[in-house]
Amino acid sequence: MRALVTGAAGFIGSHLCEHLLSRGDEVMGIDAMTDFYEPARKRRNLAPLVGRDRFTFRRGDLLDLRLEPLFAAADTVYHLAGQPGVRGSWGAEFAVYLERNVLVTQRVLEAARETRLGRLVYASSSSVYGNAEAYPTSETLSPRPVSPYGVTKLAAEQLCETYRTVFDVPALSLRLFSVYGPRQRPDMAFSRLVSAACADRPFPLYGDGGQSRDFTYVGDVVTAMRSAASSSWTGVANIGGGCEVTMRQAIALLGQLAAPVNVVPGPARPGDARRTAADITVARNAFGYLPVTDLRTGLAAMVRAERAARRVRSAESLAGRR
Ligand code: NAD
Repeated sequence: MRALVTGAAGFIGSHLCEHLLSRGDEVMGIDAMTDFYEPARKRRNLAPLVGRDRFTFRRGDLLDLRLEPLFAAADTVYHLAGQPGVRGSWGAEFAVYLERNVLVTQRVLEAARETRLGRLVYASSSSVYGNAEAYPTSETLSPRPVSPYGVTKLAAEQLCETYRTVFDVPALSLRLFSVYGPRQRPDMAFSRLVSAACADRPFPLYGDGGQSRDFTYVGDVVTAMRSAASSSWTGVANIGGGCEVTMRQAIALLGQLAAPVNVVPGPARPGDARRTAADITVARNAFGYLPVTDLRTGLAAMVRAERAARRVRSAESLAGRR
């Protein structure tokens, strides 16, 4: 398959490119390298991909690029580019969320319609549910986002559904639940937690630690994305990790895997749901989704990656001092 991945230099996008290449696909990655977090991290995410056979990268903003010629050369577009993070989406920053999540997705859908694209996979989010009516939450329940970010992800997902029903754009939206793994974004809880444990630094905890998430390993997510693209199914499906864990339990587990963490409790942040848990029946029936990575295995992979990165950084700073 010829795949185009938007947001290719990001956390999930870079894993998806690797996965698609490993399955023999031809991949073009697009990314604007936004400064939501250090662009140097994104360059590191891309480094193992650049120069590989069947991979090309185009730096550019989806709001400006002419998308039609790029889409015409692809069988599937995986649309992951966007502005993530619930806590920063209040106030003046909302304009950025609107642009990068809603306006960009509308441009992507117009190009998909124009070029009669084969498949469009959209990275939606569990944030559309907010504090859900029931758990585990199924796609039939009304979304009730509790953050402006969640509102923009829902708006983009609804656009996908609108173009699908009105213009037959073969779009599918995957509601991803708290994705974690090596290279996770630095603003996310596990990334901050693993780096605090490995550096023996305090970990600021937002809330009482009783908030829970259905954590989903990034390897399971990218496998789901390709399986969904390879099926003939369209619509909206949850992608969860299959087990709900509180932050307190995750911190205790990390203490066993790395080192006990010095937790500094603080207030909960507006925009964070109390609980998430996915009913994954739709994804299982539609394209055989089955998460296979448990939290212990996934967190251990993050700890190994963090330790390796720290060794490289300290070797580089030693070499710099010589
Ligand atoms: P990320 O920030 O690491 O990756 C997003 C990438 O998109 C960035 O590299 C950024 O430079 C790029 N980008 C943003 N706007 C762009 C534009 N206009 N043109 C081109 N590139 C642009 O984030 P991530 O955690 O990898 O998330 C990827 C997608 O998955 C996002 O859409 C996010 O909303 C969604 N998602 C993530 C999670 C999660 O737990 N990480 C959960 C649910 C949904």
